Amino acid sequence: MNFLVTAGPTREPLDPVRFLSNRSSGKMGYAVAAAAARRHEVRLVTGPVVLRPPKGVRTISVVTAEEMCAAVDQNLKWCDVLIMAAAVCDWRPVEVKRHKIKKTKSLPSLKLERTPDILKTMMPKKGKRTFVGFAAETRTVAREARRKLKEKGLDLIVANDVSRRGSGFESDNNRVLLISSNGTLERLPLMPKTAVAARIVKWVEARRRT
Ligand code: C5P
Repeated sequence: MNFLVTAGPTREPLDPVRFLSNRSSGKMGYAVAAAAARRHEVRLVTGPVVLRPPKGVRTISVVTAEEMCAAVDQNLKWCDVLIMAAAVCDWRPVEVKRHKIKKTKSLPSLKLERTPDILKTMMPKKGKRTFVGFAAETRTVAREARRKLKEKGLDLIVANDVSRRGSGFESDNNRVLLISSNGTLERLPLMPKTAVAARIVKWVEARRRT
């Protein structure tokens, strides 16, 4: 099968030296790409991270949400499975200054606008593809994840509580819930992100066999 995976944060520039972004090391997405690459073709659309691309994976580097959306769109036709592990920045400055904003007495005010929701943008073109999303929450994790599963037309959502210690951001481990559009909920114990990634790929393989 052909897997299209996104990973890492996006960056939304204010000026040539400053940006808005999300906390994300990219480890979860890179682990998914590596796990899928053992048995499938993988293309990885990645935001700026310090990780080495997994072997045998074609990597497409992007910076902004807009660029990530365009890269996903260009590769959507090719894929059977889209796994959106990227932490896409939800807002961007309306105006990007061409020169560095100077530190004057008055504080600059930032006018923000929404970035495109990549999953929602791809939803009308989904066809028979399998879509997997992630939800990083700080409370009512399962409820929020179920809402996003529906709203974004996903087959599976991988939810984690990022306020808990020892998992989530920058960690090599993660404790997640797998919630499917069939209504199943699987609570996985704290485990390495590589193991979580293998479970996600297995889930997709099983779903596509049925
Ligand atoms: O809405 P929220 O950002 O919490 O949803 C998370 C899921 O949606 C992730 O799979 C993320 O990659 C995806 N997403 C997206 N486009 C955005 C924001 C998030 O596809 N602008």
